Amino acid sequence: MKKIIVTGGAGFIGSAVVRHLVANEGADVLVVDKMTYAANRANLAPVEQTGRCRLLVADICDQQQMAETVAEYQPDKILHLAAESHVDRSISGPRDFIETNVIGTYSMLEAARAYWASLQGEAKDKFRFLHVSTDEVYGSLGDDGLFQETTPYDPSSPYSASKAASDHLAHAWHRTYGLPVVVSNCSNNYGPYHFPEKLIPLVILNALEGKPLPVYGTGANVRDWLYVDDHARALSLIAATGRVGQTYNVGGRNERTNLQVVEAICDTLDALRPTDTPRRDLITFVADRPGHDQRYAIDATKLETELGWQAQETFETGLRKTVSWYLDNPDWWQPLRKSVYSGERLGLDAAV
Ligand code: NAD
Repeated sequence: MKKIIVTGGAGFIGSAVVRHLVANEGADVLVVDKMTYAANRANLAPVEQTGRCRLLVADICDQQQMAETVAEYQPDKILHLAAESHVDRSISGPRDFIETNVIGTYSMLEAARAYWASLQGEAKDKFRFLHVSTDEVYGSLGDDGLFQETTPYDPSSPYSASKAASDHLAHAWHRTYGLPVVVSNCSNNYGPYHFPEKLIPLVILNALEGKPLPVYGTGANVRDWLYVDDHARALSLIAATGRVGQTYNVGGRNERTNLQVVEAICDTLDALRPTDTPRRDLITFVADRPGHDQRYAIDATKLETELGWQAQETFETGLRKTVSWYLDNPDWWQPLRKSVYSGERLGLDAAV
């Protein structure tokens, strides 16, 4: 029986990882999550009744509690996803990003190091700390080229700078202390349970409610989209078979401009739930985000050839699944739209 700690496991990607580990890998999981606005216990509902997933509400910055928690649970692996993750929030209030993404990662690395030092034999050899990060650490691409694992770091936003700092800490804890760390850098995710401040769920829900669909600038910024369950499978594989000290880029070769994404959502909704006027009429261009990176695109060759991972969803199949999920699950998103996030609070919001 595998025992795995997943930090940030009540968030968007973390909960997809937990659902995958419990349902498909037979793992027991301890979720460590502070339950910020981005977390939702309902994300874990599909697995909580199995009795194989437990939630500890705690702040990863609390180093003593993290050390005690890891020592007590005795995990085979730690998958570290807890983070402040929304670029626009990092621009209006960077402090939480420095605390959780930098200090919190330091705290988790130290807790893992003390625990790993106490292990012996096979348990020590097999232990892994997977630090989950973003392709945004590499900065912006021009019209050509792809991010590789060797691409120099060049972050633009407080969010990506804090993630870059945490990646460097993770690698340093391997090189300096020998902690068996692996780092993954993934492109933009989308899928079910995505908090409706991010571009794809925001546009789906605004379009359903006949509200404006905000697009930054001219909508020409390019992102490389990956369906969240493909990311969850990649993380599970990297934690199991990735080489220590290595970085693996994760991406689905699905480059789209933001405008193409918004138009594809409109067309998918028009097909699944027709209205009199095409939803593309709701598209509204808004002032661009400061420091907005032009293009992200991932070369996932290392993950594909070395570990045998392949994305299962194309952008079209993944988007259809995602739109259908939001249509089928108003009980999940309606409370968030009403009480937590109305779409107007940050004054935009076309966040990617
Ligand atoms: P999310 O915002 O949906 O979830 C983050 C989770 O971390 C939440 O459940 C939150 O409560 C928890 N958290 C925040 N601060 C905490 C703290 N101090 N202590 C404990 N828990 C805390 O984020 P996400 O989109 O699921 O991203 C998860 C990870 O994947 C992040 O590290 C992010 O940088 C990375 N990532 C995200 C994307 C993406 O497209 N969303 C792409 C690549 C990498």
